[in-house]
Amino acid sequence: MSAENDIMGKLVSLCKRRGFIFPSSEIYGGINACWDYGPLGVELKNNLKQYWWTTMTQLHENIEGLDASILMHPKVWEASGHVEGFTDPLVDCKVCKQRFRADQVEGTRCPECGGELTEPRQFNLMFKTYMGPVEEEAAIVYLRPETAQGIYVNFRNVLTVSRQKIPFGIAQIGKAFRNEISPGNFIFRSREFEQMEMQFFVKPGTDEEWLEHWKNERLAWYLSLGIRKDHLRIHEHTPDELAHYAKKAFDIEYLFPFGWRELEGIHNRTDFDLSRHIQYSGKDLSYFDEETRERYVPYIIETSAGVDRTVLTCLLDAYTEEAERVVLRLAPRIAPIKAGIFPLVKRDGMPEIARKIVEQLRPHFRVFYDESGAIGRRYRRQDEIGTPFGITVDSETLQNETVTVRARDSMEQIRVKIDDLVPTLQKALTTPPPVTFAP
Ligand code: ATP
Repeated sequence: MSAENDIMGKLVSLCKRRGFIFPSSEIYGGINACWDYGPLGVELKNNLKQYWWTTMTQLHENIEGLDASILMHPKVWEASGHVEGFTDPLVDCKVCKQRFRADQVEGTRCPECGGELTEPRQFNLMFKTYMGPVEEEAAIVYLRPETAQGIYVNFRNVLTVSRQKIPFGIAQIGKAFRNEISPGNFIFRSREFEQMEMQFFVKPGTDEEWLEHWKNERLAWYLSLGIRKDHLRIHEHTPDELAHYAKKAFDIEYLFPFGWRELEGIHNRTDFDLSRHIQYSGKDLSYFDEETRERYVPYIIETSAGVDRTVLTCLLDAYTEEAERVVLRLAPRIAPIKAGIFPLVKRDGMPEIARKIVEQLRPHFRVFYDESGAIGRRYRRQDEIGTPFGITVDSETLQNETVTVRARDSMEQIRVKIDDLVPTLQKALTTPPPVTFAP
């Protein structure tokens, strides 16, 4: 087994075994390229989304939030260019009938069986469904392939209610669907996934500066999660990679076990989107600048990240094998459980004190109580799911109301007064990894 499969294989198995991610509809044999987040996975994913949301909307007074519906007027996808152009070139193997993306196979022979491939044809990636009770008469609608269009069509609404002035942004997190020809690599490429997108509306002429600004901010965001710097890079699109709507574009890429791949796109989309919606809807989506008395169609700088790809990145980057243990060195702020709470032994009143600590911490953080097995084993079970702190009630606790707090990464232990646990953890939980008490 290659090293690449090895780490992916181990991670997929850990995710299943510990309840991060399960194959969808598993009792029916699963459904290709769909995944379910289990008890720990949903916490991790929610924490990640919350961190992005806070970074965007709470820390920027000129970014507003939005949650648009998945089903939209079909004209949206004509205006956006998706009906016509959201396609990948598809080839079929004439022998084994497998399908491939033409740009992902070399030559004209099937990579699976060596059979001859058909000529490429364009395959639209949008999922179609019917709106209304009678299938024949109902309108065809699409499951959105990106969340961005929900933002563009609400540009005027948000501008009016928020009284923002350009430059300002709209942020949204939500599901998107693409009928990918070759999904795979676990949650890297699936057919149903989530995006975190922020569309920033700027005055034409200032777009290049803003593109640069957002490229740097977004890279810094991944670094603030503790993602290894040498596993991140910026790739600028070459002219033949640029989408039809983009003037300039960067991808933030991560070094996955299967190579450098896109994690997030940062695009200068010019006035393409708003102009097209003006054209197709007949509505005025231009902006009037009160100060300069100018009217213009704003340019859009887009930051478009995949939630699931970021989850995968965080998990892969955090996965560490040491001699005695496997540790997920997740940033504490996204760790599913913030502290494990353990009575050293099941007597002398230790479980009762530990339970009280659980009650004290529970309103502030997700914690986990465990009294079974040797203490080392209990620590290791938490290390494997990325819990930053272990809190142990021991004999000293009975004397002076302090507990042992163990840091996940350095395994250092310090003593903390029970009453100081909340502020001590609160501070430590917002710092990037490694989790350690060293100054
Ligand atoms: P790719 O080239 O990998 O197909 P893309 O360039 O089509 O990606 P965008 O349309 O820019 O991707 O989408 C923005 C982000 O949404 C991507 O950076 C990625 O994180 C996420 N994303 C896109 N498609 C998928 C998918 N099928 N599964 C999971 N995440 C996806």
